[in-house]
Amino acid sequence: TTAAAVSNNNETSGTKIDEIKSTVKSQRVATHSHIKGLGLNSDGTANVIGDGLVGQTKAREASGIVAELIRSKKMAGKALLMAGPPGTGKTALALAIAQDLGSKVPFCPMVGSEVYSTEVKKTEILMENFRRSIGLRVKETKEVYEGEVTEITPEETDNPLGGYGKTIASVVVGLKTTKGTKQLKLDPTIYEAIQKERITPGDVIYIEANSGSVKRVGRSDFYATEHDLEAEEYVPLPKGEVFKKKDIIQDVTLHDLDLANAKPQGGQDIMSMMGQMMKPKKTEITEKLRLEINKIVNRYIEQGVAELVPGVLFIDEVHMLDIECFSYLNKALESTLAPIVIFATNRGNCEIKGTDIVSPHGIPVDLLDRLMIIRTLPYSFNEIVQILTIRATVEAHKIEDDALQYLAEIGDKSSLRYAIQLLTPSAILSRTNGRPSITKDDIEEVNSLFSDAKTSAKLLEENKSKYLY
Ligand code: ATP
Repeated sequence: TTAAAVSNNNETSGTKIDEIKSTVKSQRVATHSHIKGLGLNSDGTANVIGDGLVGQTKAREASGIVAELIRSKKMAGKALLMAGPPGTGKTALALAIAQDLGSKVPFCPMVGSEVYSTEVKKTEILMENFRRSIGLRVKETKEVYEGEVTEITPEETDNPLGGYGKTIASVVVGLKTTKGTKQLKLDPTIYEAIQKERITPGDVIYIEANSGSVKRVGRSDFYATEHDLEAEEYVPLPKGEVFKKKDIIQDVTLHDLDLANAKPQGGQDIMSMMGQMMKPKKTEITEKLRLEINKIVNRYIEQGVAELVPGVLFIDEVHMLDIECFSYLNKALESTLAPIVIFATNRGNCEIKGTDIVSPHGIPVDLLDRLMIIRTLPYSFNEIVQILTIRATVEAHKIEDDALQYLAEIGDKSSLRYAIQLLTPSAILSRTNGRPSITKDDIEEVNSLFSDAKTSAKLLEENKSKYLY
């Protein structure tokens, strides 16, 4: 995804927007790719199936009310807790709430145990995730050449390195605009971009003109989406008239901005050089840098150039957090720059980490006071069948009916997550065996190769003496 970064240039040189890649944690969201929203009717009631979600209707309806509270800014200082057994859709619902709030609302999932690192402070990890969950929508008006492509003529030259063959030196692009047809002689990187996006004469494209340079080429109907083409280098563009001004909207998170503006750790001493060799990409985000970024962001907001988009921070296994984290969270929730925080737990009463106090879900009372709690319930057999059917469709696997039933039985006995995880290996197995769709045999075989958490724990318990503790 294309994203903007506020460079920490000083004010006089003007604030520059650079292209950076967004740092969304995509892996963990992939298993929920079938979820598109809460699937609610306009009166807030849930259909049994909607937006990729199956069942769990009460929790979905409650989530809809919470989304409404968020929209009407009545959730400030409060947070949500999803309580329910593993694999009952707590993460799925949190994601659906974020989607319900808007398509570009950040969703940042993390697990409580993530805060324990030998290198980084717990509060630093929480802070980073807070900033991953706060979006900034930057509106920029850019000057673009826009028009219908009339010709694409690559110009060849002898290989400059003296080798055989020719290389592309430039490309002439004819653009029919409202002011007539113009020929633009462009850098070869633009030619690569044109080929990659399969742009042919007749397509309407734009070329971004930025003080005489081209940054990007794209079909105008994909403008400022992830389908944008990016030429790596700035390319000189013939000076002259600019055909159009266009509003470009870019979505970034505060963490994207922190990262883009953090400088690699400097220093001349041997220790820091070693550090650099071992972690070439290590960047340092300091408190000072964040304050600086906040200042620029606030200025953007005041100028009406940018708008804050508070997202959803999802913290799974909240009982893994300790008392220090909880007091940090209590304070952070009060901040004006706070995302919506959704906690999840499958624990009842347990000790608050770092204390000997037993509390519901291992959460201190002062935080419990701020929580609205939604319960998720185990799925029925039929619901598991339906969720598995949706996942098979999304992953483009064909599955035979008895195989599906069998897989649902496995899900019913172990967990939904485990059953979903067996889909892809089973598909690979059936393909290897030259079968067009997943059969019950495939599932049986894959199920015998892997074990679900419950079986695994049972086996370990039975064979205790053979393992080291
Ligand atoms: P854990 O307690 O282990 O964190 P969880 O309660 O967060 O589990 P999810 O990860 O949300 O459970 O669900 C497991 C899988 O099942 C995911 O792939 C999720 O998208 C899917 N899923 C869960 N509930 C539903 C539902 N109601 N409709 C459709 N898919 C669902």
